[in-house]
Amino acid sequence: MSSVVVSNYAGSLDIAAIRAAFPILSTTVNGKPLVYLDNGATTQKPQRVIDTINEYYTRHNSNIHRGVHFLSQYATDAYEVTRKKIQRFINAKHDHEIIFTKGTTDGINLLAYSFGKSSIQPGDEILISAMEHHSNIVPWQIMCEDRGAVLRVIPMNEKGELIMEEFYKLLNSKTKMVAITYISNSLGTVNPVKEIIDAAHQKGAKVMLDAAQAIHHIAVDVQKLEVDFLVFSSHKMYGPTGVGILYGKEELLNAMPPYQGGGDMIKTVTFEKTTYNELPFKFEAGTPNIEAGICLGAAVDFIESIGIDHIAAYEEYLLNYATEQIKQIQGVRIIGEAAHKSGVLSFVIDGTHPYDVGVLLDKMGIAVRTGHHCTEPVMNFFKVPGTIRASFAIYNTKEEVDALIAGLKKAVMMLL
Ligand code: PMP
Repeated sequence: MSSVVVSNYAGSLDIAAIRAAFPILSTTVNGKPLVYLDNGATTQKPQRVIDTINEYYTRHNSNIHRGVHFLSQYATDAYEVTRKKIQRFINAKHDHEIIFTKGTTDGINLLAYSFGKSSIQPGDEILISAMEHHSNIVPWQIMCEDRGAVLRVIPMNEKGELIMEEFYKLLNSKTKMVAITYISNSLGTVNPVKEIIDAAHQKGAKVMLDAAQAIHHIAVDVQKLEVDFLVFSSHKMYGPTGVGILYGKEELLNAMPPYQGGGDMIKTVTFEKTTYNELPFKFEAGTPNIEAGICLGAAVDFIESIGIDHIAAYEEYLLNYATEQIKQIQGVRIIGEAAHKSGVLSFVIDGTHPYDVGVLLDKMGIAVRTGHHCTEPVMNFFKVPGTIRASFAIYNTKEEVDALIAGLKKAVMMLL
């Protein structure tokens, strides 16, 4: 896979050079070259991220924000550089609007708890959508139960697109939060988030975008979107696991109580009364995942070295090519045929179980995900037990799509 010809791709990315930056891509699985198409679950890591982890533990390991000594200050600076890089990457107004979390799930739990406590009264409504990841369902269910609020769901159509007329009907003055995925992890649908944000704001509701599947595929500009909160995970954007980001508008974060208590989030502590630290530290209790925070900065550098718009264009080409090619396989039903999609091709094949297809592909070195993708309501809606999901990243190639198609043809022959 070293010299990759990308026919029909009008851009000028050197995909072979990009692939060379990912050591894992030259490994073999079951004696076959690895074809990694499970990027929706997590992306592989470029050498510069791996090197940064190594360098941190070899030369800079220390706890942050507290020490006066050289190593502590070095680690603190490196960690805070990532905050600034993320601020720039998503175009936030202030760096203290960038809260480090453990990941998307952690960010949504923080928000649901803290916003729920400060802003939700019995009878208030939270709007989510029919295509949410469990991470963007369950924390709101827990919060609604706690606060006596009502969870409402924007339905979708057979193509996997939100039914916007229904959204407008559901949105009302009791709606306090619209928490919605930017891009669906099981369907690939890109939702009309700007329209949703503008409509929600007109009714006085806040909006949280789950950008777990968007942040590494398309440009995200929080000021342009005017979104109130945004969450994502480092590990899906070429960075390490165990760290993620909650962005929130300063005035909204200031109005929310802390989620967890402990070190770093306090100003002063006595047994009688504790005063809380300022943003962002109010929401960052305890020693964070320092190494991952620093390395997330290296992941942002990687993305910016290519350019998010180039990434979006190339991945769109790959998805279109894969979508076209998969139709050759008899009995394929694509799950998720929205007009605007990114990153994900989900499908089922008549007479086969997704799990069996996944196991056979694995024998050929092809990694796809099978199952409900943490979106059981989506599977129930489409009346399937699960799907086979190929999800793309910048290092995938047309040849890998061809390998997937050939592998699927073989699998189908063996199973039917
Ligand atoms: N939301 C979406 C849309 C996702 O794709 C994922 C991960 N599959 C999550 C939330 C949860 O992310 P994490 O497990 O990194 O917290």
